[in-house]
Amino acid sequence: MASHIVGYPRMGPKRELKFALESFWDKKSSAEDLQKVAADLRSAIWKQMADAGIKYIPSNTFSYYDQVLDATSMLGAVPPRYGWNGGEIRFDTYFSMARGNASVPAMEMTKWFDTNYHFIVPELGPDVNFSYASHKAVDEYKEAKSLGVDTVPVLVGPVSYLLLSKPAKGVEKTFSLLSLLPKILPIYKEVISELKAAGASWIQFDEPTLVLDLDFHQLQAFTAAYADLESDLSGLNVLIETYFADLTTEAYKTLVGLKGVTAYGLDLVRGTQTIDLVKAGFPEGKYLFAGVVDGRNIWANDLASSLSTLQQLEAIVGKDKLVVSTSCSLLHTAVDLVNETKLDDEIKSWLAFAAQKVVEVNALAKALAGLKDEAFFAANAAAQASRKSSPRVTNEAVQKAAAALKGSDHRRATNVSARLDAQQKKLNLPVLPTTTIGSFPQTLELRRVRREFKANKISEDNYIKAIKEEIKKVVDLQEELDIDVLVHGEPERNDMVEYFGEQLSGFAFTVNGWVQSYGSRCVKPPIIYGDVSRPKPMTVFWSSTAQSMTQRPMKGMLTGPVTILNWSFVRNDQPSLIFYDCNISRFETCYQIALAIKDEVEDLEKASINVIQIDEAALREGLPLRKSEHAFYLKWAVHSFRITNCGVQDTTQIHTHMCYSNFNDIIHSIIDMDADVITIENSRSDEKLLSVFREGVKYGAGIGPGVYDIHSPRIPSTEEIADRINKMLAVLETNILWVNPDCGLKTRKYAEVKPALNNMVAAAKLLRTQL
Ligand code: GLN
Ligand code: ZN
Repeated sequence: MASHIVGYPRMGPKRELKFALESFWDKKSSAEDLQKVAADLRSAIWKQMADAGIKYIPSNTFSYYDQVLDATSMLGAVPPRYGWNGGEIRFDTYFSMARGNASVPAMEMTKWFDTNYHFIVPELGPDVNFSYASHKAVDEYKEAKSLGVDTVPVLVGPVSYLLLSKPAKGVEKTFSLLSLLPKILPIYKEVISELKAAGASWIQFDEPTLVLDLDFHQLQAFTAAYADLESDLSGLNVLIETYFADLTTEAYKTLVGLKGVTAYGLDLVRGTQTIDLVKAGFPEGKYLFAGVVDGRNIWANDLASSLSTLQQLEAIVGKDKLVVSTSCSLLHTAVDLVNETKLDDEIKSWLAFAAQKVVEVNALAKALAGLKDEAFFAANAAAQASRKSSPRVTNEAVQKAAAALKGSDHRRATNVSARLDAQQKKLNLPVLPTTTIGSFPQTLELRRVRREFKANKISEDNYIKAIKEEIKKVVDLQEELDIDVLVHGEPERNDMVEYFGEQLSGFAFTVNGWVQSYGSRCVKPPIIYGDVSRPKPMTVFWSSTAQSMTQRPMKGMLTGPVTILNWSFVRNDQPSLIFYDCNISRFETCYQIALAIKDEVEDLEKASINVIQIDEAALREGLPLRKSEHAFYLKWAVHSFRITNCGVQDTTQIHTHMCYSNFNDIIHSIIDMDADVITIENSRSDEKLLSVFREGVKYGAGIGPGVYDIHSPRIPSTEEIADRINKMLAVLETNILWVNPDCGLKTRKYAEVKPALNNMVAAAKLLRTQL
């Protein structure tokens, strides 16, 4: 009866680690206080898994910040600018790498595969002196052991570690990261030998990069690495864990051919074809860790269906060689359903967070071993059935309307330059028009008003009055600053997805469904549980109120369908899932959201809002891991965006906004969105963005590459902003360029925003006189 968990959330059921970290960083508590909170969380998690009956319980999946940074520490690969002098790496060095310190900025952070988790990217060059500098893996193994739990220590595998690194400054173009393999393996060997000495009998290497598009040379690195480790690993059972997608046939062959390895962990949820690889051949005598319980979502497992998959696999790999597992680390799901007090019982019965998934894994393992908990399975089957038949899930009209969208293109009838002309006649904007991205600073007072309204502590009338006053303040400020296209400042919104989700049907919200995004930061994605529709207008009241306060154009402000989708937990129950393809089910939902936003766009237009911005901040991050799947995703994502605004008049100007600048690879899709104006983040990498246009990409729509970085409190000078605009003018036509900050101003203070916007407008005016 064998069960395994790939990894577990670290934050704690009520984000205990977040608060402990932040209090330590603010110097309000000591290192010992933080260590105590962390140790308590770890021991609670180990006990919970042990009590549930899990056989292979992971250790070292806890982290004070990030598991890749932990591996960097283990290897002593600290970039020289952090001034570390050797010895065991302590909090000061560790958190300096993670967050920067007074004199040095943090290391780069990037998304972990296609999740919303971010890791700290190792920076490696030919001069790194690797040394065994963090004993965390061994310490945690021993810690669990002293609590009576024999764990499987987890390490980021050596090849994935290198493949996820970036070359240090100065050697970007020339350096082969994989050439460092012979230098890092000796450290891994030291760790392995200490783990053995401490009594470990299993070890898990996470090698998720095996699911990416790898070339022969990269696959070879896996073969070479584990051949090198083989003798050191002898006496241990070695699990290579992969996740997030299918393996290619070549990658699978490489995996099952690795020397010294006894077990393979496969993601059977996202890896929809992986089971066929196993059926086509599985090495005798090896273990299969079958990831059937989804670590990326919050839905209760369909136990009957998983059990039948497991039985098929058991017939291939043998009874004592099949281990029931999660599809990936549970890091990417919420922590414990027990703390959800606001969800109704029906919806709750459809869900399983990390704590419940542990129980599911074990129930499946027991069932496989002939000890099926009939009551548990029956309750699960009833919940699955209720989810299938619940009228809250199905809205046939919406399903039909969404299905009817397929096959059609949904483009505005007139081309973009003719539209821009028509809009200019109506809007009469100066060249280099100025605008902002939407939100204005959210003061404590404002947050309090929203919170009290939500808690029914203030009346609707008083709430509306307070928000109106805030909008008026923001409108007056923008007029004073002489900005051309205004925004209402989004004071009524707490989050750009939640605000819409709360007003659409088909969405549910948790109280504690937090998922780590990076460091101490967590997000609480809404849950899309049913067909999505818009019972009534969502933003028209606020936008028209704002428009009534000014003669200048007021932008209506919406979140786009792809972003709403990508920042939510999505369904896994649509009919198309007969093929279990999460891509297909995602686009069905996306079309439904697109239809709801389309209605909103049209209502705004009817209310005389002539400029409407539809944010697609998260379009890029939904790109599938495999290049072969990019085209399909981009096609439906861009199509969904076009659906929202294909019905408006030529004179209505559609803006969109995106929060990243590395879109050189998707520029053609962005053009295909056919927005009238796009504002994009740019200020941290002028060159990257502008090079696309320098290389000859034709861009005819309006474009506003951010002229200053809103993520920093720094106030840019007029000259500096003018200089950047000039750089853009060198590659873009004057009549399409807009002047705006990088992103929304929500997190900034008025003391920063006022002078920064003032300088921005001054720079635009200065350049207008020079054209
Ligand atoms: N309109 C949103 C804002 O200004 C956009 C935020 C975003 O792109 N992340 O806050
Ligand atoms: Zn943004």
